Amino acid sequence: MSTTMACNQSQPHVALLPSAGMGHLTPFLRLAAMLASRSCTVTLITIQPTISEAESTHITSFFATHPLSTVSISMSILLRLQMPPPTIHSLFSLEPLVAPVIFWVLSYVLYLHLSLPSSLTSLSPPVLVRFYSLMACLPYLSLENHAKTGGSENDVEIPETITAQNNGKVLTNLPPVLPIGPYEPYELKQGHHIPWLDDQPAESVVYVSFGSRTTMSKDQLRELGNGLERSGYRFLWVLKASKVDKDDKEGIENLLGHSFLERTKNEGIVVKEWVQPEEILAHPAIGGFLSHRGWNSVMEAAQTGVPILAWPQHGDQKVNAEVVEKAELGIWARHWGWGGQKLVKGDEVAGKIIELMGDHILRANAKKVGQEARKATKVGGSSEKVLMEVIELLKPKN
Ligand code: UDP
Ligand code: UDP
Repeated sequence: MSTTMACNQSQPHVALLPSAGMGHLTPFLRLAAMLASRSCTVTLITIQPTISEAESTHITSFFATHPLSTVSISMSILLRLQMPPPTIHSLFSLEPLVAPVIFWVLSYVLYLHLSLPSSLTSLSPPVLVRFYSLMACLPYLSLENHAKTGGSENDVEIPETITAQNNGKVLTNLPPVLPIGPYEPYELKQGHHIPWLDDQPAESVVYVSFGSRTTMSKDQLRELGNGLERSGYRFLWVLKASKVDKDDKEGIENLLGHSFLERTKNEGIVVKEWVQPEEILAHPAIGGFLSHRGWNSVMEAAQTGVPILAWPQHGDQKVNAEVVEKAELGIWARHWGWGGQKLVKGDEVAGKIIELMGDHILRANAKKVGQEARKATKVGGSSEKVLMEVIELLKPKN
């Protein structure tokens, strides 16, 4: 346990337990800040030690500026809690944890992270994304199928939408799922500013980043560099050579070669440090984003209205790429497959970047998405309305 705060009895008290990784921590810190600024008492449960240095830096800086209460639990306690897998019944008996649904869903995700063999997590469509819907649907599906077919039918239709769940088509006794987002960025200036951007013409630069924990083979990195160079567009490339930041020690020159850096020094910049993606995406010089489509990156690009070239690498990212395509926020190089599945050559990368940067209709659509996304978080916006609904729902009843 670290610090505790006096809890106001009339306020909702929300416990948040992010799964490991920056991609999970970031949205939870944003949500924590949003709830705390709307008169909620928030307890953030963190797992120690964190996997990456970025997580531990963010947690420390966050608490320096946001007076929430924290509970730290060690990994070994968590592992004990998770085995055997939680059942719906056992998790619902954790009611005193204030936001049982949040805890329940996360426990499952965490349990799956810890226990699914990698052969299963790399399936397409990704197991994790469909898993929750499938599990929640099972009782309904078995009854329905039995009635229709006498139990002989194997194909199942999974209602995947939140509306289906909230209308009781999945399970009648589940609490409602109330979607909120995009989240407001919280005031925390972690990461390096890139002054180079200030000298670049408007919408001329491709921002290249694969999030907080995705790397590529050295060959693929070199092909990517080759593609950026051939595209003729300027680029800001945030390079990662190791999944966990603490292990990321190899220098840029070693990874990409001296001659590449020499040839591209006037058009591009490669950094190997923690940056501030929201500041970069909002910069007028940025015209496109080559991304792995982690969900946070999707949200950040949506809020700033920057068109995306999606190159999903693992996990839920193909589903995210589909969302991006449908929202006309970006394009998806489908035939590149998952990261590491094949070596995508420089000329293919160049071709897609040229397509992304030259598509004026896409750029205009992305700007519209940006306007809509920003509207959603303002007072009266769709996200803000649901957030207030959640808070109302969680208020202690006298
Ligand atoms: N991020 C950052 N600085 C960096 C790299 C990443 O702040 O140098 C943030 C990024 O803005 C996003 C999160 O880390 O909010 C990564 O989450 P995402 O879901 O995009 O991908 P993941 O890293 O989980 O694959
Ligand atoms: N994953 C993987 N390889 C990696 C990183 C993640 O197979 O290099 C798996 C991870 O174990 C998890 C899934 O991809 O099962 C993605 O998890 P999630 O949907 O929670 O999203 P993310 O953590 O990427 O934001």
